[in-house]
Amino acid sequence: MDGHYSFENCLFCDIGHLATAVDLLYLDDKVVAFPDHRPAALRHYLVIPVEHVGPTVNSLDKIPKHYELVNHMLNVGKDLLRRDAPNSVEHRFGFHQPPIHTIDHLHLHCLALPFIPEWRKVKYTPLDSIGFVDANNVLEKLKP
Ligand SMILES: [Zn+2]
Ligand SMILES: [Zn+2]
Repeated sequence: MDGHYSFENCLFCDIGHLATAVDLLYLDDKVVAFPDHRPAALRHYLVIPVEHVGPTVNSLDKIPKHYELVNHMLNVGKDLLRRDAPNSVEHRFGFHQPPIHTIDHLHLHCLALPFIPEWRKVKYTPLDSIGFVDANNVLEKLKP
């Protein structure tokens, strides 16, 4: 599966292609960013590729195209949090891995802490090889 096709009935494809239903924070020909509809922190944004990539971060291959995509997603997220939450205690960036991902379209979680409420951190704290994975570790693995 090359992962670069549009899914019918994919909510995030709709957002990427039609820019509907959400307040876009950022948009270019590769990615879009918008607030998570169930924020878990002071600021909680999602950055997604416009084209369908998925279902999860494990679908990414060690190729320059995917490395550049994740690098770009991360830079967009960093810029947005720097702009909107410069005084936050920590900025955290990462992806959900199976089985806890909920939408089959790659999306980078960008969180400006603290978590609100505190218990919501469980879903966004890196573990070894399951659950939440730090975006920098993903980039490291994809490095061509
Ligand atoms: Zn999609
Ligand atoms: Zn997620």
